[in-house]
Amino acid sequence: MDAQAELIAAVTDRFGPKAVITDARDIEPWASDWRGRVHGRTRAILAPASTEEVVEIVRLAAEHRVPLVPQGGNTGMAAGATPPGDGSALLLSLRRVNRVRSISAASRIAVAEAGVILATLHEAAHAVGMRFPLTLGARGSCTIGGLTSTNAGGTQVLRFGTMRSLVAGVEAVLPDGSIHSGLSGLKKDNRGYSLDQLLIGAEGTLGVVTAVALRLVPAVASRAVAWTGLTSPQKALELLRFLEARTGSVEGFELVPQDSLDLVLRHIPGTRPPLSGTHQWHALVEATTAEPQHDVSGEVERLLGAALEHGIIDDAVIAANEAQADAFWKIRDEISEAERIEGQTLAHDISVPVDAMPRFIVDAAAEVERAFPGVIASGFGHLGDGNIHFHVRAASHAAPGWYDDEGAAITRMVDDLVTAAGGSISAEHGIGQLKRDEFARLAPPGRIHALRAIKHALDPLGIMNPGKLVP
Ligand SMILES: Cc1cc2nc3c(=O)[nH]c(=O)nc-3n(C[C@H](O)[C@H](O)[C@H](O)COP(=O)(O)OP(=O)(O)OC[C@H]3O[C@@H](n4cnc5c(N)ncnc54)[C@H](O)[C@@H]3O)c2cc1C
Repeated sequence: MDAQAELIAAVTDRFGPKAVITDARDIEPWASDWRGRVHGRTRAILAPASTEEVVEIVRLAAEHRVPLVPQGGNTGMAAGATPPGDGSALLLSLRRVNRVRSISAASRIAVAEAGVILATLHEAAHAVGMRFPLTLGARGSCTIGGLTSTNAGGTQVLRFGTMRSLVAGVEAVLPDGSIHSGLSGLKKDNRGYSLDQLLIGAEGTLGVVTAVALRLVPAVASRAVAWTGLTSPQKALELLRFLEARTGSVEGFELVPQDSLDLVLRHIPGTRPPLSGTHQWHALVEATTAEPQHDVSGEVERLLGAALEHGIIDDAVIAANEAQADAFWKIRDEISEAERIEGQTLAHDISVPVDAMPRFIVDAAAEVERAFPGVIASGFGHLGDGNIHFHVRAASHAAPGWYDDEGAAITRMVDDLVTAAGGSISAEHGIGQLKRDEFARLAPPGRIHALRAIKHALDPLGIMNPGKLVP
């Protein structure tokens, strides 16, 4: 028997057939990335049901020198959870490790296991009058372990930060099978390097996250969701600053170009344009309050009226009810899905300093479209965080291999523009395998050296998600 077969047999022997999936049809959906760009190969998915089972599997994997690829909901955008194409690794699914261990309004902490789906945590928090304030389009399938391991952001970062600010502690199984227990939620703990922070955003390369202590905030008492039409990203940033100077309630601010809105209207059933006229750009604004007496809707209406008078926006509508508010958000959340249906799209999740972003979006799009005739470039997303998804769609006549030839040249151009603007080629999606070469090409040598040293110190056998993140 080879090493993989021995490991599979040992895991089946100890934890039963539920813990091992070997049927090719059951493996297939989990062996490619969400966008269907990277196709891996693996002989089995190992599916433990508890931290203790993860410990045993990691120990066995180390003993047999079989690499593991941790996986949650497989919604990541950098193919970090996709196994290598040569079949050299097994998938380690955390989806069965999925209990909310505790949740308390008094401590404002929830302890959720890695496989808990984000939407499930939202419901659990709501049930105790609290809220976990991170959300994103994949909330129905992405997991707490994946969100932690990619340091995910989402649409509420403006007010609450990324996972890094919302994680109070991490429990993880390290590559030698030892457990790091950081779930106490201590506000103060200065015992040297923070392993919790090291594991956040590690993309499964330093260990397996098994549970996370998460910070909660009071539930929303009411919210106002508005859709505005404007002439440029510069006007959108002006609107954000105008609102922020007058209220502390804004927590979501998403930029949407007309082109993205058109795609959603074309491909996603049941969507309708929020405004009657056509606008080159749109901003989706969400303001919330936990204070029942606070008329946040009236406040937003008054402020948008003033923004209209000041010539910052051209038009605006405030959702009349929760269903309409959800319909506005659906447009934003479905942009990636609409692009996926439309055809080949290069996704660049980039950040530059916030003030430089409006000019960057316009100039970089013009430069890319000039250099590669027929493609369509546009940026949408979290303008207030200086982070947009700068996406480039292939021309309609593009051949199937477009990603690897012209696509690669476009990505290099975008990444060079981002680097020249002092930005990051991965704002929130991580490096995974899709961005590893570009990361190696553009990151300062000191950064790469430190990453390699940390990886080697914690995972000398290289069994944790090899080929990802670390060049
Ligand atoms: C429609 C859509 C919208 C999105 N919007 C946003 C957004 O606004 N902001 C944003 O930041 N991201 C966004 N994402 C991507 C986001 O990164 C993922 O949704 C989420 O963070 C990954 O969770 P997952 O459980 O699917 O992880 P996976 O895709 O399974 O894994 C992601 C990475 O984490 C590692 N990993 C997973 N679980 C563990 C674990 N338990 N221990 C160690 N490593 C682990 C994997 O090896 C991989 O490297 C979006 C994705 C989709 C499909």
